Parts: sequence; structure tokens; C-alpha cells
Amino acid sequence: MRIGAHVRAGRGLVPALEHGVAVGADVVQIFTQSPRQWKASQYGPEVLESYRLAQADHPSVSATFCHATYLINLASPDSELAAKSRTCLEANLATAVGIGAAGLVLHIGSHRGSGLDRALPDIVAALLGALDAAVPAPSPCPILLENAAGAGDTVGRSFEELAMVIDAAGGDERLGVCLDTQHLWASGISFATDAEADAVVESVRSTVGVERLRCLHLNDSKVAYGANRDRHANLGEGTIGIDALAALLGRPALQAVPAILEVPGAGEGPRSEDVATARRAWELGVRRQGASDGDG
Ligand SMILES: [Zn+2]
Ligand SMILES: [Zn+2]
Repeated sequence: MRIGAHVRAGRGLVPALEHGVAVGADVVQIFTQSPRQWKASQYGPEVLESYRLAQADHPSVSATFCHATYLINLASPDSELAAKSRTCLEANLATAVGIGAAGLVLHIGSHRGSGLDRALPDIVAALLGALDAAVPAPSPCPILLENAAGAGDTVGRSFEELAMVIDAAGGDERLGVCLDTQHLWASGISFATDAEADAVVESVRSTVGVERLRCLHLNDSKVAYGANRDRHANLGEGTIGIDALAALLGRPALQAVPAILEVPGAGEGPRSEDVATARRAWELGVRRQGASDGDG
């Protein structure tokens, strides 16, 4: 399993890639633009192109994922906010396509009590609109719907909800899924034992399908199981713990899916020791899985 790290692009895109290399990541994730501002990305076409080329034949980093702006809310009942969100998603996707990203991870947003049925057509129109507006070359960049921690009417708190959105979009193949371990835990879906982790994989299989799952976000949790809040902790320092994370990482069906750390580190994001801890957790999971196979 490839282990990845979210890297900051404050000093530029290519330096962010180099930071990923320095912490030992096989895959990196970058914000396409400032995550808490509407202001569009300042990267010119030549900057995007230089990143794309640096990534394309990189000896150790095999893929880049992008994460979209947090402010986007495709489910908003406020038409002004919904329109702003659509424009912002298009801009995020253009940047992600420009750098040759393997996917743009997106939080769908909150329907703010207006109901998923009301929001669903808007969500679908926004997703398909952004995908249709994106230039198809040099490589297609799917939008990856991330599972939500479940706070305040957020859409995507279960695999069934993610599948509902994808089905409503006609099963469009440009839509994928990103599964965040902390959000899963906070939304009250446990994977602490091998049996529970198997059940999670089975839920993915029977709803969105494993082939749509393009990346994991690998995070421990600062909040309790079922607390419905999005608070990431360093692996082994939260309420999930290494054992439970290992159970999920060891599932045979997930081995081709990269696991990207979005942990705080010492405040600056994932460090080399966090990447090393993630690799140990994965190895532990695979070893346990192998041992249970041996038992029959
Ligand atoms: Zn996210
Ligand atoms: Zn995440």
C-alpha cells in the first residue's frame, strides 16, 4: 500500500512535492487553492505545467491528489452560496486537471436542514457541470466525494449517502470516493476488529463499489467514536489507535488504494515519523491478515 502525505504549498507547488519526498511519501495531496478562502488559485498555467512534468516522471512520488476548498457547499439551500460553490468547484477542478492530479477530493457540504432530497439535484448538477467544464486532457481528473464526519446535516456521512449522490449522477465514471478513517470513526462506523474492518469493505463493495475508492485519508481521531466532529490526531495519539487502523489497512481489497496522512504532526502537517508510523500500521495489518488466512 502506498502511504501518502498532505503537503502545504505555501512556498509553491514543486517545493510541496519535494517536501513530500523529504517525509518519505509515495503519494502527496495538495490544496488546489487556499482552503478557507474563495479567492481562486494564483498558479499560472506554466506553474501548473511545471508541477505536472515534475510529478509525471517522479522516481518516488507516484501520484498527486488535490483537496478542494472547504467553503464549497454544493448542498446549500442558499442560492447565492450554491452558485459561488459551483464556480469555486470549477476553478478547483481546473487547477487539479492542470497539475495532472489523480483526483480532486471534495466535501459535498451541508443541506442545513433542507433535506437531502431537496439538495440532491443541485449537488448532481454542480458535480456534472464542473466535470463537463473541465478540459479532458492531458489526463482526466475525477472528483472524489469524501465521507463526512456527520456534523450538522453534512451529506456523505454514510456509504449509502455517497452512493445516492453517485446514482443520482447516473453513476458517472468521473466520480469516485475518498474514505477518511477519522470521519468514518466519528460518524459511528467502527473498524476496530478484523471482522468490523471486513464489514466496512463489504459496505463499500455493496454501495459505491471498491473500484470507485481512489484514496484513503489516514488519520487518528481527537474526538470520541461517534462524536460527529472532524478532528484529526497523529496515528496512535487518538481514540482510534494503531490496532484499529491496522485492521482497516490490512484488508486485501484495499491494497491498491493509497492512504494519505492528514495528521497535524507537530503543527506543520505529516512528518517523516508519521509516514513511518503509517507504514508500520499497514505492515501490522497485513501480517495479522496473513496470520488469520493461515488459520483457515
Ligand atoms: Zn477532507
Ligand atoms: Zn480527509
